[in-house]
This record gives sequence, structure tokens and C-alpha cells, in this order.
Amino acid sequence: MENKKTVIVTGASKGIGANIAIYFAEKGYNVVINYNSSAESALLLQQSLASNGYSVMAHKANVTNKLEVDLMVKETIYKFGSVDVLVNNAGIAGQGLFTEISEFDWNNIIDVNLKGVFNCCQAVLPNMIENKSGKIINISSMWGITGAACEAHYAASKAGVIGLTKSLAKEVGPSGITVNCVAPGLIDTQMNANLSDEDKKAFTDALPISRMGTTTEIAKAVYYLASEDADYITGQTLAIDGGMTI
Ligand code: NAP
Repeated sequence: MENKKTVIVTGASKGIGANIAIYFAEKGYNVVINYNSSAESALLLQQSLASNGYSVMAHKANVTNKLEVDLMVKETIYKFGSVDVLVNNAGIAGQGLFTEISEFDWNNIIDVNLKGVFNCCQAVLPNMIENKSGKIINISSMWGITGAACEAHYAASKAGVIGLTKSLAKEVGPSGITVNCVAPGLIDTQMNANLSDEDKKAFTDALPISRMGTTTEIAKAVYYLASEDADYITGQTLAIDGGMTI
């Protein structure tokens, strides 16, 4: 059994999650690349990291499915010995007038973005509590802080993640576990593929730092919150948004 730290990154097949996985691998972690539907890109990422000598395992699990999540955590502990860091990054977006959000869309967003975090936290916590150490970093959103017109379900799910983070931080702090949030602003990933260049420009022009954020900027902050340098930080939400939420 290896003596390195292990991180599970949910939704690591692309975008922010893939970059977090790469960053932790480069820092010497065993990395579990969780994915749901994008098997090809997850397996390509696994291959490319493994061929550079990094310790990685891709694992398919829908974060909304408790059994699949539990199995992923069991396999991680079997292969790597423990779960030291959990990054709850998997998420989906949705837009629409509030009066037109269907019950299906509401349930789907809350299931992935909020219940997914619940499932993954519940699955890793027995191991972390036994080890009396652990770091959980949840990816919320600027919209979870400010609210968002025409994205009420998304904003509500991400505000829920902030509430869950604070509550869990209080509950598991005595067990040596910290729980924090990162709230990204507009980051250049497929999630924003629906925005035109004009939309992006209008948004970023209004920011103190007038550009989109990068996935690496999010990965570095997540890594910091997972590190010993952040041992006294818990229950916090770190906005990485070019000043959007000032
Ligand atoms: P993305 O490129 O669309 O990637 C989303 C990831 O989530 C994919 O790897 C996807 O995996 C995974 N995922 C979705 N549903 C899942 C499920 N049921 N089970 C497991 N994995 C699932 O999005 P992104 O921009 O990187 O976003 C990552 C996180 O940052 C999300 O939580 C998002 O809300 C948050 N965020 C993003 C921005 C932004 O501007 N991009 C801003 C604020 C917050 P599969 O494709 O394999 O299903």
C-alpha cells in the first residue's frame, strides 16, 4: 500500500475538475478521476497522467447515486488506503425563467449539485473520522453568493452547497476535518459554451479584473485549501471571480 495522500475529484473528466486532478497529480497525490458520462475524456486523462508516472485511477460514478459513490470510495480505500481529500466539483448548469423551470430540471440540478455533495461527503467521512484528518473542498459558484436571475435552480443549489459546507465544518471540525468552498466566477470551460463572445465580454468588462478565470486558478486555490497551510481555515467560501462578488 502506498504512503501518499489521496484525493477524489468528482467531475474530473473535463473543465475545472480535470485541471484539479492534473494539479494534485503533479503535486504527488494519488488521484481518483471521477466521471459520469464522459468516459473517453476521463480515460484519456488517466492514460496521459499514468504515462507520465503519476498515480491515478479513473472511476465512473454518478454522484447522484449513493451506491455508485459508496463503491467508488470503497475502491479508492482498497487501492490507495485512505481518502485524504475530497473535491466535490461535479456539477451541471441550467438557465431559464423561474416560471418555466420544470420540476425535472429543478430536481436534476439539486440532485447533481447538492445531493451529489451530500452523497460524496457521507461516503468519505467514516474514513476521514477514523483517521482524524481530512479536507473537503466543495465547488460552489458566484451565483450561490449573489443569486442569479434565470438560473434560480442553479443558484439555489450552489447556495445550498455553501450552507452544507458551513454546517459540516462545524460538525466535523472536532474530528480534525476541514470543509471549505471555492466559489468560481466566470471560468473558461464547456459549461459556458452557450455564451457568445459578446456575452462573455460584456460580463468581464464589468469586473475589476476584466477577464475570465482559468481552470488552473481554481485548481491552485483548491490545492491550497487542501494543504497544511490552510489547517486553520474551515467553513469558508473563497470567491475566485475577478472581483465579481465584492
Ligand atoms: P464542465 O466542463 O461542464 O464539467 C462538469 C463536470 O461535472 C464533468 O466532468 C462532468 O462529468 C461532471 N458531472 C456532471 N454531472 C455529473 C454526475 N451526475 N456525476 C458525476 N460527474 C458529473 O463544468 P466546469 O465549468 O468544469 O464546472 C465544474 C464545477 O465548477 C461545477 O460544479 C460548476 O457548477 C462549477 N462552476 C463553474 C463555473 C464556470 O464558469 N465554468 C463557475 C462557477 C462554478 P461527465 O461529463 O463525465 O458526466
